[in-house]
Amino acid sequence: MENSDRTMSKKLRVGILGATGIVGQRFIQLLENHPQFEITALAASDRSQGKSFEEACTWRLAGEMPAFVKSMAVAAPQPPLECQLIFSSLPGDIARDAEGSFATAGYPVISNSSAYRMDLDVPLLIPEVNPDHLALLDHQRKKWGGQKGFIVTNPNCSTIMLALALAPLHSKFGVKSVVATTMQALSGAGYPGVASLAISDNVLPFIEGEEQKIEQETLKILGKVTGEKIKDAPMALSAQCNRVNVTDGHMASVRVKLVRPASMDEVREALASFTALPQELHLQSAPERPIIVREESDRPQPRLDRDAGKGMSVTLGRLLPDSVLDYRFVALSHNTIRGAAGAAILNAELLIATGKLNV
Ligand code: NAP
Repeated sequence: MENSDRTMSKKLRVGILGATGIVGQRFIQLLENHPQFEITALAASDRSQGKSFEEACTWRLAGEMPAFVKSMAVAAPQPPLECQLIFSSLPGDIARDAEGSFATAGYPVISNSSAYRMDLDVPLLIPEVNPDHLALLDHQRKKWGGQKGFIVTNPNCSTIMLALALAPLHSKFGVKSVVATTMQALSGAGYPGVASLAISDNVLPFIEGEEQKIEQETLKILGKVTGEKIKDAPMALSAQCNRVNVTDGHMASVRVKLVRPASMDEVREALASFTALPQELHLQSAPERPIIVREESDRPQPRLDRDAGKGMSVTLGRLLPDSVLDYRFVALSHNTIRGAAGAAILNAELLIATGKLNV
């Protein structure tokens, strides 16, 4: 981009860490025509550094690699980078050092990685559910030694869908206990992910760390700000996770016990009518309906429902009374959009709209 164009642009300059990966590519796709952000830096591993993005990245999403990134150079995921805000989709094990170094250098970091999600002073943010958790930033900024740098995370891709579905039930009736069984798509494991011979004609009943993430993160997200940290929501949650032979779209069978009695109609209405701050603020990536309740007996399905609300809505179906707990349903959402890149972009939009970015 020419300098004169850049001075005229009011868009925030953003860098993407892990830009060549499955989530990184989704960031590029979603940000291509975004009115508030302009990608000015891309970073990945030393395998890719020094190459043009076109040389370093095999494009794995439908459609062409956007032309504007092709000639951009891939940098190391270390400050300084030519941008004002960092979107991170680095693997969890290296994200901690990399994201911390950007926060220390004064960059706001909006992360998909698990590295900081459970830190006491880090918001684990779903804008429709816990925007008040951004109050933690007032305490967190001091840690990095400046006013600009901080880290905000989005939850694990299955947690987002579950927490969004539970949020209206928890605020209206209280949720006492939850049993969730996920069926998670292959793209959730990144590329190349699970070997084809392991998943063809098969279901894998283990995804490392996933059950623990869902159980811990959901309680933090639905918890309350108490002083300088979050007090977990007082509910019991049991999760089991399976990898299934689906490209995109995580699904979960969920059973819920409520604190206060609620009729089937009240539960359906609470879910179907749920809207929140992102809808009020008309944030660019906010779906009109965060939760879409379907009445057909055979929905949701990954192929048919993952793109609902441009991939940002959770589709919920099979809502029925349950003979062991109170109610049951099946939830589905797009794991690399609402579950990753789209979630992080919505987080950044909320930070701008609420005046939390000092860039
Ligand atoms: P991926 O496809 O394997 O991509 C990993 C990215 O990180 C690539 O850009 C890779 O660069 C880079 N990278 C790997 N090792 C690195 C290193 N040592 N130093 C610097 N960069 C390195 O993974 P992904 O699915 O996009 O996931 C990225 C992160 O998002 C993970 O933390 C994951 O848990 C999280 N996440 C993923 C999903 C999902 O649905 N996939 C959902 C939510 C959260 P090279 O190409 O140069 O190797």
